[in-house]
Amino acid sequence: MDKDQRARQAEPAIRPAVPGLAGLDQLLPGEAVLAAMGGTPLVAPPPSAGAPPLAEEQDYFNDLYLLAPVGYFVLASDTTIVQMNLVGADLLGLPRSNPERIPLRQFIAQRFTADFDAFVNACLASQEPQRLALQMTRGRGDRGFAVTLLGSGTPGAAQLRVVLELAEGKLAALEKSEERFRRIVHSAEEGIWEIDASARTSFVNPKMAALLGYTIEEMLEQPLIAFMDDEGRSLLERNIARRQQGIAERHEFKFIRKNGAEMWATLATNPIFDADGSYMGALALVSDITAHKQSAELIWHQANYDALTALPNRNMFQERLAHEMKKARREGLFLALLFIDLDQFKEINDRLGHEMGDALLVEAAARIASCVRASDTLARLGGDEFVVILPGLEQVTSAERVAQQIIATLNRPFLLGGSTGSVSASVGIALHPADAGDPEQLLRNADQAMYAAKHAGRNRYSYFTPDMQAAAQLRLRVTRDLQQAVANHEFELHYQPIVNLRTGGIERAEALLRWRHPERGMLNPADFIGSAEASGIILEIGDWAFRHAADQAKRWQDELGRPFQISVNQSPVQFRAGQQAFDQWMAYVEQLQLAPRSIVIEITERLLLEHSGPVIERLHQFRSMGLQVALDDFGTGHSVLAHLKKFDIDYLKIDRSFVMDLAGDSGDLALCEGIIVMAHKLGLKVVAEGVETPAQLELLKAAGCDYAQGYVYAHPMPAAQLTAMARENSGSALSIGHSLR
Ligand code: C2E
Ligand code: CA
Ligand code: CA
Repeated sequence: MDKDQRARQAEPAIRPAVPGLAGLDQLLPGEAVLAAMGGTPLVAPPPSAGAPPLAEEQDYFNDLYLLAPVGYFVLASDTTIVQMNLVGADLLGLPRSNPERIPLRQFIAQRFTADFDAFVNACLASQEPQRLALQMTRGRGDRGFAVTLLGSGTPGAAQLRVVLELAEGKLAALEKSEERFRRIVHSAEEGIWEIDASARTSFVNPKMAALLGYTIEEMLEQPLIAFMDDEGRSLLERNIARRQQGIAERHEFKFIRKNGAEMWATLATNPIFDADGSYMGALALVSDITAHKQSAELIWHQANYDALTALPNRNMFQERLAHEMKKARREGLFLALLFIDLDQFKEINDRLGHEMGDALLVEAAARIASCVRASDTLARLGGDEFVVILPGLEQVTSAERVAQQIIATLNRPFLLGGSTGSVSASVGIALHPADAGDPEQLLRNADQAMYAAKHAGRNRYSYFTPDMQAAAQLRLRVTRDLQQAVANHEFELHYQPIVNLRTGGIERAEALLRWRHPERGMLNPADFIGSAEASGIILEIGDWAFRHAADQAKRWQDELGRPFQISVNQSPVQFRAGQQAFDQWMAYVEQLQLAPRSIVIEITERLLLEHSGPVIERLHQFRSMGLQVALDDFGTGHSVLAHLKKFDIDYLKIDRSFVMDLAGDSGDLALCEGIIVMAHKLGLKVVAEGVETPAQLELLKAAGCDYAQGYVYAHPMPAAQLTAMARENSGSALSIGHSLR
């Protein structure tokens, strides 16, 4: 194929948009221009957010418009020429700027003016393209020339666009212009790609073919998607609907070159419509942005990530911190920022060299990462400084726990080449919103807290706020004590009898935890349960309490020769912890050959309110295991009695606060009565807690209460004491007011 053939093949092959002009069996680049301009010549579409401006592509369209080998006019409604291209100006012999605001009508031969007016009105009245053949003249003495006008209104503006074609013969300017037009298309730095309505390639310029590494012939007739992979196709599909709505747009697409390589390109796409307004295809200007995109990605990555550890760097960290702080404010939760600095890192670097130092940092990053959730942000600020953002916290102590874990994991020796190195970490904790409202201040405060940890001897964490720090230290001391207490078997269970109000029999008891502290003497749960929960040690203690209570139930059943139930209190923390402990308890009960219903699990009302979903499930499990469940402190959590239906509960324990003020005429009595009636309707038994006087007992009995527990019968006592008491009682009626202490 010679050059000319190739050039011809590469002509834009857009069919005339107006059927009436189809007879001009020749190239009509002006049509393409008119169509491609989409009604907005010289006006750049607003740049889409984030994308580089369209200026360059628009310029190019403007060139096409300017140089197109047809006259192109934008007219005001009175046909004043507002804009025209070179050929238009040349034909009429006017300067392009038309300073005298001469109307096009002035150039219409006298006998055609009526037709022309009708043509203009039709254009203004509808978006349908109009066509009119007439004679034009440049004034006295001019022979005039025959033209075909193709016009259409501009939606939303009292303007019309008119393309003027010479009916026969060509002016020199026009010939020159056509040549220019062709030259632009062929030598364009951008690819030009035209597709038909079924998205098949109807034209590409040489640059476009070269961009993809094909010949022009190879591309013609091929569907657009033949040059894309799945990712490119889905990008295309996302945009196709909008393109058919006739929106001129600019998009990034991914093409696949003939050699298989990817090509990222921006496509400035303009739809083409025919006279009926149906979609005929689109013309796109294609720019290769592969290199730009790759380098942009690289630059972005380098700007936001640490090359050594691949963690987010300071830049990215700052962005995330600002984002998370905003989110925390919106959600009313708080956020902790941990500032981690390795102790003695410099020595490692000096002793083993920078390469080993780097290896240690990489390993340290991985270890810290293993202590945080995927939703937390771990970043490296530089050197041996790391930061962790812990968003969405409900308790301060969870931040403390993460800090502890990080310190522990960094304490383990590092294997570096042949040798080992050890470091420790100092961690500063700052909280938002408590310690700072803006990101910079929060970081400074966390940094300062880290220095406090270093000053205090390293290998530890410190809070920014002195109060927080003091509280943390206290917690730490109590936690250590509790750990000691578990190890030294300092915990005991005391038992308080629960009496059947109908028979007076002692059928069950509640196990209540006591801590025989070596210095402080016997401690009640109020003194230590909070710390045990915050530190997580409650899990160990609770596990011990359950097994111990199960042992005791078994022992009493054997000794008394009758069923005997023990209630065990359950912290919400235990409830939230994993399934494992419960499975093991079941195995333990089985191993003891104890009937599971010998154990009652006491949970609090608050738990039901806070975690109703998972709680329902777990209660269901207890039920299927055969354990019984009591709802403790009932009445303090504002739960609605009727809602209890959905929970698998066996007993309601009316809170002491209702029992305390019981008197014949008190509102509390009515409340107790109501609770009892309702509970019975739901199939629950009722236990009154904290019954201290015979009068309270009488009222409860009269109200139909099933069981009572309180000082009126006995204080909590060691197991041996209860054994004697239960023996004596052995189901016989217990006289009211008879102290069993
Ligand atoms: P609770 O489950 O409501 O236990 C009843 C508390 O009321 C016990 O206090 C008991 O000694 C006290 N009490 C019983 N009768 C009377 C009375 O007539 N008048 C008055 N004023 N008080 C009475 P204790 O043993 O100090 O336990 C306090 C709380 O500690 C318990 O409240 C329970 O929530 C928690 N607790 C006890 N043992 C454990 C345990 O093993 N695990 C867990 N997680 N929590 C426990
Ligand atoms: Ca209880
Ligand atoms: Ca209670």
